[in-house]
Amino acid sequence: MSTAPPPIDNHVDLLVLGAGMAGLSAAAKAASEGANVVLVEKGPAIGGSAAYAGYIWTAPSFQVMRDVNPNGDPVLGRRVVDGYGAALEWVRSLGVHVADPVTVLGYGRGCRTDVANYLLACERLVRERGELLLGCTAQRLLVQDGAVLGAVLRSESGKERVIGATSTLLATGGFGGDPELRAQYIHPLARELPLRANVYSTGDGMRLARAAGAAFGPPNAGFYGHLIPSRVSYKNPHEFVDLTFYHSEHGVLLNLDGRRFCDETIGDHLNTLHVLDQPEARALLVTDQRVHEGWMLRPYVEGAEPIDKFQLAYKRGARAAVAADIEEFEALPEEWGYPDEAARDTLLEFNRQCQTGSLTPGRKLDAEPLVTAPYYVIEVIPAITYTFSGLTIDEQARVLREDGSPIPGLLAAGGDAGGVFHRAYAGGLASALVFGLQAAVTATAPLAAVS
Ligand SMILES: Cc1cc2nc3c(=O)[nH]c(=O)nc-3n(C[C@H](O)[C@H](O)[C@H](O)COP(=O)(O)OP(=O)(O)OC[C@H]3O[C@@H](n4cnc5c(N)ncnc54)[C@H](O)[C@@H]3O)c2cc1C
Repeated sequence: MSTAPPPIDNHVDLLVLGAGMAGLSAAAKAASEGANVVLVEKGPAIGGSAAYAGYIWTAPSFQVMRDVNPNGDPVLGRRVVDGYGAALEWVRSLGVHVADPVTVLGYGRGCRTDVANYLLACERLVRERGELLLGCTAQRLLVQDGAVLGAVLRSESGKERVIGATSTLLATGGFGGDPELRAQYIHPLARELPLRANVYSTGDGMRLARAAGAAFGPPNAGFYGHLIPSRVSYKNPHEFVDLTFYHSEHGVLLNLDGRRFCDETIGDHLNTLHVLDQPEARALLVTDQRVHEGWMLRPYVEGAEPIDKFQLAYKRGARAAVAADIEEFEALPEEWGYPDEAARDTLLEFNRQCQTGSLTPGRKLDAEPLVTAPYYVIEVIPAITYTFSGLTIDEQARVLREDGSPIPGLLAAGGDAGGVFHRAYAGGLASALVFGLQAAVTATAPLAAVS
């Protein structure tokens, strides 16, 4: 049953919750089109996780998107691929530096971008033509007769303000920062995952929308994250990247039984999901000198700064060691809890299977034995960046009910929207940017019709 909405303090065309990639893009684009906009950010500053990111990239074609992300929603995936070029043009149009395209993760294509400057340019547009509220959250959405009419906001000082809005965009970045939601929707062991992202994305958009009747899913979609050394906590957000073991895709992963459990070469971001499924959600990453020099000491993406991550993690107290030969794996430190003889035998068997072409589990890429001493071993655990399950949206960024009908006045983009990626990944910035800009188009369409 709907209750009469409280008296509103002011009415806008677009109310945006979340000033990260999706929210800033939507608010700035809508403001530049003449819409009356309020942008609300829970944290003390704009940027969200996008403030740590640098490459706007995605699959170069719909076919590649389907190949790498076969269980993602095809309509949303196509929208990201088709919208990518125009979205980058919009970024450039704000005077932001966008470098030439490079290959990302082996299958993607994208551009190193001055994301910090892009976020500032969007902020400027919003401040000039609308309003930005920092340290503010939405208490609840205003819902009448099934339509969303705005939200009740509360500032840090506890002051309430009621904003009526023709459209409300949820762009709060998903629920990666909420341990209970992670345990409920990802995996029981996901409660303990370290967060390698902005801390404020705790599922607010999802809670607000579900209370308004929104559908949520799909189940078991996983999350975007990476493997990091166990027992090392981040000193500052720069370490989100510095302590990420992207090169796990060229090494060998062993679980607590001393066994391999996945094709490591599909990508570190997917190894992360596989490690979460292993006993105690931890594993040993083993590389030899070839992988160490050829992959770990090289930049992960063209243009990125290389650093010796193994050394950094070792200095910071990670469970890490260097072995002169594979036989030394017989003497793994007891307190690590891995069966050392089984680990050694698995590595010897891995090398044998590489030579006979009988690798189990198989490897799509880099099926080369680890034979160049010394050997580097480090314990890794999964860390989460953002969640793939979320509010069900259509290609216009409209939030849908279980029956597939749109909830009038309610939009979602970025980490708050589910279904774009499903246990696969092709660029969180691009997805947030494309659907953020789409949300602005959807929200300003009624204005265009009037003028
Ligand atoms: C270290 C790191 C590196 C990355 N590198 C890349 C990269 O190179 N390329 C790439 O494609 N992706 C990258 N990503 C992922 C990318 O940053 C995200 O996919 C993208 O930022 C998602 O956009 P978003 O708008 O959904 O969330 P965010 O950008 O995180 O923004 C969400 C915002 O909502 C705010 N918020 C939360 N709750 C509320 C509330 N109740 N009310 C108001 N505001 C709220 C948050 O504080 C935040 O500011 C990286 C992420 C990290 C952490």
